[in-house]
Formats: sequence, C-alpha cells, structure tokens
Amino acid sequence: MDDETVGLVPRMREIAAQTCSLVAPRQCPCGHEGAWLCRRCRTLLGAPPIRVESCCDALQQLTAARIREQLEDGVPLPAGVDHTAVLPVLALGEYTGQLQRIVLAWKNGGMLHLSGTLAPALAPAVTELAAAAGVPHPSLVPVPSRVGARLRRGEDHTAELVRALARTGVGTSLLLRAAPTTAQEGQGARQRRTRRIRVSGRAARRAGQEGASVVIIDDIVTTGSTLRGMRGALTAAGMTVLGAVVIASARVPTPAPIPGRFP
Ligand SMILES: [Zn+2]
Repeated sequence: MDDETVGLVPRMREIAAQTCSLVAPRQCPCGHEGAWLCRRCRTLLGAPPIRVESCCDALQQLTAARIREQLEDGVPLPAGVDHTAVLPVLALGEYTGQLQRIVLAWKNGGMLHLSGTLAPALAPAVTELAAAAGVPHPSLVPVPSRVGARLRRGEDHTAELVRALARTGVGTSLLLRAAPTTAQEGQGARQRRTRRIRVSGRAARRAGQEGASVVIIDDIVTTGSTLRGMRGALTAAGMTVLGAVVIASARVPTPAPIPGRFP
C-alpha cells in the first residue's frame, strides 16, 4: 500500500465508527454510555495544567555542583548537584487510569474527533506559557508522530490536535517537516537521551527568519528526549521555544512535603 492508501484506512474506520454510532449508543472511553465523553471524564480534562518537567530525566541539565555545603545569600545549599530543566512542560495529569484510556481511544481507537475536546482542555496551558513569556499569540508546533518513535498509522494525531488548538484562538498552527537526523545505535547513554531532530522546509525557514515564538505540542511525555530534540531543532532553526504542552505525563511530581511535618 502506498502512503495515501495507508492514510485512508483509519479515516474509513473513523467514518464507519461515526456511522455506527447513529444506530449504536455513543460510549465514553471509560465505558460510560450515552456520550463520546462522560461528565466525569470531562471534569478530568478540565483540571488545571501541572508542571512536569522535573520528572523528565532527559530534560535535566546540570547547573551547579558543590563538594561541600555552601552559603548563598544566607541560604545553606547542601553538597551535591543541581539540575534545571531545559524547558517548562505542562500536562493535564498522569498517564494512567481514565486519562490514559482517553488518550488511547483518541490515538488508536478511531476517536480522532476527541481532538475537539482535548484542544480546549489544553488551551489554558498554552496561554500560561505564552503569558509567562509575554507573547500574545505563539505558534504551535506538533511533534510529528514519526519522530515520536510511534507506529505511523496514516494519521497524525498531534497535527490534528494543533489544528483544533488553533481553532480555540490560543495560537497559530505551524506544521513543520521534522525528521531524526542520526541513528540512535552506537551512541553513549548520555547522547541517547537526546534525539537529534532536524526541521526543514519553507515554513521552518520562514518561522526561523521571523524568530517565531513557539510552543511544542505532544500527546505524552516520558523521559522528554523527543521534546528536548524538538527544542534543539527549533532553536537551531532560529525560533524561540516557550515550552511544551502535552496531554499526559508518564510521571508527575509528588506533592511537596509540608514544612514542619514528617511522614
Ligand atoms: Zn468517561
């Protein structure tokens, strides 16, 4: 099958699913019948976005190392190393339970139309990153499915999500050609943590020349190596990356301990 034929299969499956729903009851990914997304799952998507970059190993960079305890502005800093993330990442929650079911139904279960529900849920996260940088209308760049080391299924979910996000008015979609530049084999562990990605094409050149401010959009973040690779590629092309917005994160920060209380 050529590329176009491959692309047709999921689309036809989608149309079939939509047609069947006219006679069969609509069902939420959680199993609840009567709606594409039940009220409980809608509430889940309505949660305020959380910062997850501290849980992404590949996004950390060494910022300081101390052999012994040091005082800095009267604050004692313990011996050890400090890590800071290379970019802020916002997620709706942990990739588990209901949220995981929604993502899987959207990606693999022929429910691409959930993009229309996921986009307004992610819009506040885009606005938060844009406001922090003082940018009114950032460009939204999806991580192409191929680069994300996922099976190409003939439809690009993240691109569809970005189009739906642009329709909410939080930014402009910027779809770029992106490809990994080197094989991952034979590299050291440290290098493998970063995927080398290159963006190309006219849209990338123009956005680079204009120094566009961009927010990267992806579905799930695990180690953050793909996000780091995308950030590197976009920065190298001349763009400014404000951060990334994802639906779910493999890990989320545990609540910070309350001072004075011990577990
Ligand atoms: Zn539900």
